[in-house]
Amino acid sequence: MVGRLDMGLNGEDRRLWGRVRMAMLATLLMCGALFAAGYLSLGQMATEHRESAEDVARMERLRLLADSMADEAAAVHSARGPAQAFLARETLTSTLAEFASTASRLLQSGERSGDPAVRVMLRASPTHLADALIEAHALAVTANGRSPGIERPAARRAAKKLQRLVRRRIDGALEDLIALTKRRVEARSRDVQASAKTIAVLALLLFILLWRLSLRPLLETMEKRTGALIQAKADVERALLFDGLTGLPNRRNLVERLERLDPASPLGILHIDLAGFHAINTTLGWETGERLVRYAADTLVDLVPRTDVVARVNTDSFVLAISRETDPEQLHELAVEIIEALAQPIAILGHNVALEAVIGIAARRGGREPAAKLLANADIARARAREEGGSIYFSTAMRERLAARRQTAQELLQAIVRGEIEPYFQPQIDAATGEITGVEALVRWKHPQRGLLNPHFFLDIAEKSQIGRRISDIMVRRSVEALAEWQANGLPVPRVGINFSAQILRDPELCDRLKFDLDRVGLEPAQMSVEVLETAFVQGDDDPVIITVGALAEAGFHIDLDDFGTGHASLSYLRHQTVSRLKIDRSFVRELHLRPRIRKMTAAMIQLAQTLEIEALAEGVETEAEWRLLHEMGCNGLQGFAIGKPMPAAEIPAWVAEHESRRAGGQIVAA
Ligand code: C2E
Ligand code: CA
Ligand code: CA
Repeated sequence: MVGRLDMGLNGEDRRLWGRVRMAMLATLLMCGALFAAGYLSLGQMATEHRESAEDVARMERLRLLADSMADEAAAVHSARGPAQAFLARETLTSTLAEFASTASRLLQSGERSGDPAVRVMLRASPTHLADALIEAHALAVTANGRSPGIERPAARRAAKKLQRLVRRRIDGALEDLIALTKRRVEARSRDVQASAKTIAVLALLLFILLWRLSLRPLLETMEKRTGALIQAKADVERALLFDGLTGLPNRRNLVERLERLDPASPLGILHIDLAGFHAINTTLGWETGERLVRYAADTLVDLVPRTDVVARVNTDSFVLAISRETDPEQLHELAVEIIEALAQPIAILGHNVALEAVIGIAARRGGREPAAKLLANADIARARAREEGGSIYFSTAMRERLAARRQTAQELLQAIVRGEIEPYFQPQIDAATGEITGVEALVRWKHPQRGLLNPHFFLDIAEKSQIGRRISDIMVRRSVEALAEWQANGLPVPRVGINFSAQILRDPELCDRLKFDLDRVGLEPAQMSVEVLETAFVQGDDDPVIITVGALAEAGFHIDLDDFGTGHASLSYLRHQTVSRLKIDRSFVRELHLRPRIRKMTAAMIQLAQTLEIEALAEGVETEAEWRLLHEMGCNGLQGFAIGKPMPAAEIPAWVAEHESRRAGGQIVAA
């Protein structure tokens, strides 16, 4: 048992346990000694008692014998006739014999006795006893009739004398013996008491020693341990139920609280998402991020009554559970209040930041939907609010949409396995010469029922899961294979452009993976354009996207800044010398002829590219008029339906042949 206890102990504890064991052993030994001593002393006392009692009995017997001897002596002398005298003498002789033997046993007992007083006393007795015996013998002899000088009255007197003698002597000795025995017993019990006291004192000392050296430290250690254990348990329980950063209830805690509510009671759920939080966290650092989350938590707690529960359910999302009677109008108003409060700019660690919150709302009024379902509904509404901004009330249509998206994700996985995902290629040409400068790979899903699907139908869903990565891999692999094949067949297609999502661009191994894929088919990085949406960048030079794109540019890849003019990071990103080309967004091209202001802006963008000595390519060129105008404005490259629609790899050779022949025939000349 002690051995088993030992297992969880450290060195100090083990030493302590050792001491406790030693002390316990010592106490045990001490108790054993005490018990043995007590047992022996009591045994001794009992023996002495028994022996003294025997001695007392002997003396009493002697007194009785002396009495009867006096009578018997008298009887001898008063005997009538020789026969009677003979009988009386016989009786006296046997009494005498018993007297002698009892006396001698008494003497032996005195000799054996360890007590010197007893010995002295019993040793003194023989003299008196011998006297008594001689006298008795004399009586017996005279009674024989051989001593006629002694008369009966004299004989009676002599017998009386003997009686008195014996009585006096023996009574005195008896009293002495009893007193002595008493004294001896008292002395013995005093001895026993004294040794018991000594042993008790020793045991007490030992216990004090045991207490001070081992038991107390052990108890203190145990107390400390128990305290620490209780604290640790409380900490763990807290950590399980509360968010460490804000001190707010966590998701589990929230769910437990909501489950305890009466399912018929009103319940409103606001799922609050800090939309831009991730970007702030990556650009301004985690410390700012944490402060911001705490600030958001405080703001939320301040905005609602204490009866409402504010929980932090995720890095950047909170849930507000309102268990009072509310209507959709009030919930919307509260949501707007929250969005506005969080949108107030605040200074954190030298940065001026404002939070953009989106809120999904769901409520139970009258119905008996379980709290878990309301939480899920609010979450669905939140996802929708994330796309559209503001606050959105949950509707069943949303759940259907979510279910449809899940279904699509499922189907996409199968599509990948079945090879239904493939790149289409759209040509890009030089605005001045009509020369093919490259193709852009655009993903398509050859859906067995729904036909050819544009990325709009599935890419967003794919990128919200791991499927995005697999689609990107397929696009890269099949695009470089197609390009290598065209080049092997002598087609004048110098480069393929591939679109990458921010998620993929955050992968620090992307550059190496792309180089590997190109190398596999014998191509160079310069033969690939990496198309980066300007929205993929968030401000801050340590953004992983910026780092990856920097590495790609360094490795010789072309970098196209896609959808230029629509995002808000474009100019800022151009500080970096990694971009090779601006892709002016289709929304500008479309309105070139409609709005002079758009034309001016487009011209400015082309101007900017020229100033930076990089190229400008216009996307979505649908008419010859746009083509011509763009060329006049100095735009280097063109891409759009007017030049060529996205097409499967197998159709590119025919398109190139046709394009080249038209170009040779002078049909592809701008201006
Ligand atoms: P984007 O990169 O801006 O691609 C150009 C889009 O404009 C393509 O749409 C293309 O079909 C369309 N387009 C080209 N010329 C014209 C035109 O003259 N008129 C009109 N109306 N449209 C034209 P698509 O293929 O549906 O792609 C949509 C977006 O999906 C792309 O926009 C790109 O951002 C994204 N995307 C496509 N493929 C991939 C991919 O493999 N990976 C990633 N991450 N994104 C992709
Ligand atoms: Ca693109
Ligand atoms: Ca574009």
